[in-house]
Amino acid sequence: MDFDYAPAPESRSVVDIRSSYGLFVNGEFVDGGGKAFKTINPATEEVLAEVAEADAADVDRAVKAARRAYSRVWSRMSGAERGKYLFRIARIIQERAREIAVLESIDNGKPIKESRDVDIPTAAAHFFYYAGWADKLEHAGYGPDPQPLGVAGQVIPWNFPFLMLAWKIAPALATGNTVVLKPAETTPLTALLFAEICQQADLPPGVVNIVTGAGATGQALVAHEDVDKVAFTGSTDVGRAIAKAVAGSTKKVTLELGGKAANIVFDDAPIDQAVEGIVNGIFFNQGHVCCAGSRLLVQESVAEDVLERLKRRMGTLRVGDPLDKNTDVGAINSAEQLAKIRELSEVGEAEGAGRWSPPCELPDHGFWFPPTVFTGVTQAHRIAREEIFGPVLSVLTFRTPKEAVEKANNTPYGLSAGIWSDKGSRTLWMAGQLRAGVVWSNTFNKFDPASPFGGFKESGYGREGGRHGLEGYLR
Ligand code: NAD
Repeated sequence: MDFDYAPAPESRSVVDIRSSYGLFVNGEFVDGGGKAFKTINPATEEVLAEVAEADAADVDRAVKAARRAYSRVWSRMSGAERGKYLFRIARIIQERAREIAVLESIDNGKPIKESRDVDIPTAAAHFFYYAGWADKLEHAGYGPDPQPLGVAGQVIPWNFPFLMLAWKIAPALATGNTVVLKPAETTPLTALLFAEICQQADLPPGVVNIVTGAGATGQALVAHEDVDKVAFTGSTDVGRAIAKAVAGSTKKVTLELGGKAANIVFDDAPIDQAVEGIVNGIFFNQGHVCCAGSRLLVQESVAEDVLERLKRRMGTLRVGDPLDKNTDVGAINSAEQLAKIRELSEVGEAEGAGRWSPPCELPDHGFWFPPTVFTGVTQAHRIAREEIFGPVLSVLTFRTPKEAVEKANNTPYGLSAGIWSDKGSRTLWMAGQLRAGVVWSNTFNKFDPASPFGGFKESGYGREGGRHGLEGYLR
C-alpha cells in the first residue's frame, strides 16, 4: 500500500545563526582582511550569514598563534592532559549534537536524519577515539617516544563539513600538534560553531584556529613556511596543485582525494540487501561522497532483477526539505556542483547510456537533482570514469569475478569498493585483487574511527582514522 508521509520538520530554533562571523584566531573571533562572503542555505538560496575571508596576513597571524600555542603550551603538556581536553570536546559535541546537526543541514543541504544519525555522532566518536590515544602514543607502534610535527595546516571540503573537521583536528591534537583549519567556502558555519566549542572547553588559545575563505586562503595556508604538516581533503585537481606547492619543502603531507568506487554485486548476493547497499552507496548525502559507490558492477545473470528492484526502491526515496526527518535525499550543495552534475549527466545521455529517474517533484527554489541511474554504460563513457559527486549511478555488467576485478580497477582512483556475495572465500579473493583503500563486504559507506581510511593512486596518500591516522601527525 502506498501512503504519504506528513511533514516532520526538525525545529530550527535550536540554532542561533549570527548575521556575520569573523575568523577564529588565538582563541578569539577577529575580523578578516579579505572581502567577506555569504554562505547560503542550498535548499532555499536564503543567505544565512556573512563570513570573513582570511587573506595572507590573517593566515600568517593564525599560523603564528598556532606556533606559539605549540611551543609554549600544547607540546609541553602531557598526553593525559591533552586527552582530557579531547574528551571534553567530544562530550560537548554530544551535548550540542542536535544544534550542530541542524546547522549542518541548513548550511550544507544534507538530510537531518544523516547529520543527526551519522555525521555528528561519528565526529564525536572520532574525538573520543583519539582522546584515548593521547596518553598511549608510545604504544602506537611509532617508536618509544613519538614526537609531534608542530603546526598543521588543514583544508577540508563541503560534503561532510563537521565530520571532516573531526577527522583532521582530533588526531592532530591528540599527537600534540596545533592546528589552523580552513573549512570549505560553502559550508563554514559548523567549523565556526566548533570554534565556540573550543572556547567552551577552555582549550588553550591558539591550539585550534579557524580561517574561513576560498581557494586563495587555502593556498596561503598550505604554502605558509611555518606550517609543518599539510592535511587536505578535496578534489584530485586541487590535491595535485597542493602537492606541487609543497614539493621540495620539509612539510609532511596527506591527501584524501576523489573516488569512483565500484559496488560489485554477484549473482549469489542477498539481492534485497544489495539493493539497499546500492541505494546507500550512491544516494547517501546526495552522492556527495568521495567513497560513493558510483559504479554499480552487477553480474549479468541477475542484472535485470537487480535493476528492476533498484528502480522500485528509488521510487520510494523522498527528495526535499533537508530538515524534514523523512527526507532521504536533500539539496545539492551549490549551484556550481549542480551545474557539474547536470553537465556530466547530459554527457552520459549524449554518449548513449540510458538515463532514468523516478518521478519526483523538486522544490522551486534551491539546488536539486533527482536520484538518477544510467544503464548500458561502458568503460569508455565519461560517466564511468569521472567523479560526478552527485546522486547519479552508472551501471555496468560483468560475467566472471576476473572481469569484475578488471573493470573495478580500471579507474585512476582507488578509494573504496563494495562486494556483495554469499561466499566469504570469493569476497576475500576479490578484496585482495581490488586496488582500493577500503573494501566493504555486504555493506557500504560504513565508518568507524578505529578503522583507517584512504586511497590508492589518484585518490591520494596517507591514512586517516585508526592507529594509522596517528602516523601522519608524528615525526
Ligand atoms: P575542492 O578541492 O574544490 O575544495 C576542497 C577545499 O580546498 C576547499 O576548502 C577549497 O576552498 C580548498 N581549495 C581550493 N583550491 C585550493 C588551493 N589551490 N589550495 C588550497 N586549498 C584550496 O573540493 P570540494 O569540491 O570541496 O570537495 C569535493 C571533493 O573532495 C571530491 O573530489 C571528493 O571526492 C573529495 N573528498 C575526498 C574525501 C576523502 O577522504 N578522500 C572526503 C571528502 C571529499
